Amino acid sequence: MEPNQSELPRWERAGRLVAGMLLAFGLASCSRQPAMSAEDGPMSVEELEKIPKIDVHAHISDFGDTGAEQFIGLLKKHNFKWLDICVVGTEWERLQRKIALAEKFHKAYPQRIAWATSFNLTNWGNPDWEKSALATLEQGFAEGAVAVKFWKEIGMVVKDPNGHYVMFDDSRFDPLLDLIQKSGKTAIAHIGEPYNCWLPLDSMTVDGDRHYFRDHPQYHGYLHPEVPGYWQQIEARDHVLAKHPRLRMVGCHLGSLEFDVDELAKRLDRYPNLAVDMAARIVHFQVQDQKKVSKFIIKYQDRLLYGTDNDVGERKADLQSELLRCEEVYRRDYRYFATDQEIEIPEIKANFKVRGLALPASILKKIYYENAVKWFPGI
Ligand SMILES: [Zn+2]
Repeated sequence: MEPNQSELPRWERAGRLVAGMLLAFGLASCSRQPAMSAEDGPMSVEELEKIPKIDVHAHISDFGDTGAEQFIGLLKKHNFKWLDICVVGTEWERLQRKIALAEKFHKAYPQRIAWATSFNLTNWGNPDWEKSALATLEQGFAEGAVAVKFWKEIGMVVKDPNGHYVMFDDSRFDPLLDLIQKSGKTAIAHIGEPYNCWLPLDSMTVDGDRHYFRDHPQYHGYLHPEVPGYWQQIEARDHVLAKHPRLRMVGCHLGSLEFDVDELAKRLDRYPNLAVDMAARIVHFQVQDQKKVSKFIIKYQDRLLYGTDNDVGERKADLQSELLRCEEVYRRDYRYFATDQEIEIPEIKANFKVRGLALPASILKKIYYENAVKWFPGI
């Protein structure tokens, strides 16, 4: 489906214009086999650690009065900016504390911390729900929020008084989505769960999911046939994309289509307004055929954003060990994307090894930085 030029984000229109000009001047056609430029060559792990990067999916919880410098020190060391995503609407008091914390960090470290707001769902169904949710969004935008998070509680937890689950394509969310689009912001959607969520523990493809759903049985779809299923969640999200073609949406966790790059490719082809983050789902790239994954990343290099779901302050471990854990994730991902080394991935299963993809520098710059700037204007 080719969208109207006017429906495309401004940056994409500009890109197409440049491509069109190149074609008009015959530049594209005379370089049928473009020479390998430095941009297309490899990038070392050391170089990747140094270039500016954005982790578009991270969470800051309160870790006390001390430690902020240490935390920001880690971001500086790896030259990362965090998009701190505030959740969850069904715990409004906690969400408000997270929003206040995000505002504080963004003010103190604007070069290192951007943030995404969310809204109250504890008052769902009250006559003033819409008004108060819109007010929270407006306040967040005034404080520099670049996006709004919609979490899996929509579709899996929140119910109407008649007992029906509230799905993401419920028209009561339209005024919020319209406001996000009109304000030039981005919707972040974590809708549904990994496909594994609806399988018994012993059929799941990666140990990481097996452990998460063993520890969080309340979210394990397989145990809750009353909760709308995997494809119902995906359809609701797709329906929102179709209904709001001018809204930019970043689907969390590979858009919950982590189990098959072909399924994800179908949505990226169908909805030009969709990009996805890779947060906590890189292991799902790693269990698939690596040639296929590499082809997929090269083809959709403008629609994939690096993210981790790293958090600080949440697990109540000491800050030092939380920061070490974040660093471990970063280093392992550098190796996977930039080198062809063999890497051990215990989250898949003990002794599981995968070879790095050795992506060219131009693509690394896109997934680690340039795509974030395009999909989250103002970040
Ligand atoms: Zn998250």
